Amino acid sequence: MDNRLATAREWVAQSRRVVALTGAGISTESGIPDFRGPQGVWTKNPKAEKLSDIRYYMVDPEVRRLAWQQRVAHPAWQAKPNAGHLALVSLEQSGQLHALVTQNIDGLHQLAGNSPDRVVEVHGTMHEVVCMHCEWRGPMQATLDRVRAGEEDPACKSCGGILKSATISFGQSLVPEVIDRALRAAEEADLLLAIGTSLSVYPVANAVPLAKSAGARVIIVNAQPTPMDGTADAVLRGNIGEILPRLVEGSGGARGISSA
Ligand code: NAD
Repeated sequence: MDNRLATAREWVAQSRRVVALTGAGISTESGIPDFRGPQGVWTKNPKAEKLSDIRYYMVDPEVRRLAWQQRVAHPAWQAKPNAGHLALVSLEQSGQLHALVTQNIDGLHQLAGNSPDRVVEVHGTMHEVVCMHCEWRGPMQATLDRVRAGEEDPACKSCGGILKSATISFGQSLVPEVIDRALRAAEEADLLLAIGTSLSVYPVANAVPLAKSAGARVIIVNAQPTPMDGTADAVLRGNIGEILPRLVEGSGGARGISSA
């Protein structure tokens, strides 16, 4: 592992256009469970998958009631960025981070200090709420206050439509400009870092083969195997909070590399 890490660190240090693709695994050390890891929400309770599926959400008031309870109690509201998030901030500060494509909805990359315009949230954000009918958007906390005050399934105040967090649920279409931007960035990368993602959610998982076929190196950081380990130039197995700071150590700024 130490040799592999040293080689991968050298690749990071040499790169000018790093694209990080992050998944739920980067936030588990901040207390937010992933879906498919050993302690994942779906691993422990397969029925929880329904709450993230638009087809159940739109037709079943009980699913919406449970989803709102889960949003009120979500650990993300108290979560703080961890060493993994901070490592990606240093990579941006060193001028090497071309884009940070995240499947996460928790906003921890921005809270850690990555610039919002560099973060591409392909699955939306839990910090906003959207009306499924008139597309009104507003801050999540104001709607959570209505739930705390006793509304089990708060409706849109403008049109009475169904409200949902501004995230992309399973069965829902991605925002074309956002996923296009993410995949374009992957094709422009000289190094793609896939961090804490099971690489099983498409189309964003295509970022890995796209980057690879455009000539980028690929490094996967994950505690468990992924279906794309065979494509990667290096697979670093272990905890993100330990590996990522070591991987970016000595990169960019510290070596006097300026932004490309
Ligand atoms: P996933 O749950 O499918 O996979 C997470 C991966 O990270 C697993 O392979 C797991 O082994 C690994 N992992 C977990 N903790 C780790 C750690 N500390 N160190 C190293 N590896 C670790 O997640 P995904 O691929 O992102 O897909 C799930 C979908 O669910 C995404 O669309 C995402 O938006 C959403 N989601 C987001 C959050 C969040 O915003 N924090 C949380 C749960 C789910």
